Amino acid sequence: MKERGARPYIKAMDMQEQCSERGIDRGADWLKAGGLRPTRQRLALAALLVGDGENRHVTAESLYALTLGTGERVSLATVYNTLRAFCDAGLMNEVVVDGSKSYFDTRVDDHPHFYWEDSHSLTDAPAEELSIASLPRVPEGMEVARVDVVIRLRKA
Ligand SMILES: [Zn+2]
Repeated sequence: MKERGARPYIKAMDMQEQCSERGIDRGADWLKAGGLRPTRQRLALAALLVGDGENRHVTAESLYALTLGTGERVSLATVYNTLRAFCDAGLMNEVVVDGSKSYFDTRVDDHPHFYWEDSHSLTDAPAEELSIASLPRVPEGMEVARVDVVIRLRKA
């Protein structure tokens, strides 16, 4: 992305005012667990994702919107590519709700999701209440890699 004007990059120090030092530390540990080098941008995004110790579902757009409050300059494309890198490193799971939109989840164990059609948001559904009685027989030579359960919600 082309730099506009002479505005210097925000130093990592400025970020800490937005995200607590503890949040940055959590982000750094998280990147380390995925074997990723803690670049400034990765660290900023990691702190936004896991800095408070909670799991989070984001889209590239929603995470990008969060970066605007931090002073960290990062393009939407970079956010998207970084989310992909986090998935490749096993730090996040991608949940595709419809063909056009991907959600990224910091919780990586198997669990079902609620998709709220009115707000286009994704939340965890209680896994203990889900039981899958049987699955269709898979084609010869294939095995089930993963079963994604997305329960779409609308106002009753
Ligand atoms: Zn989830």
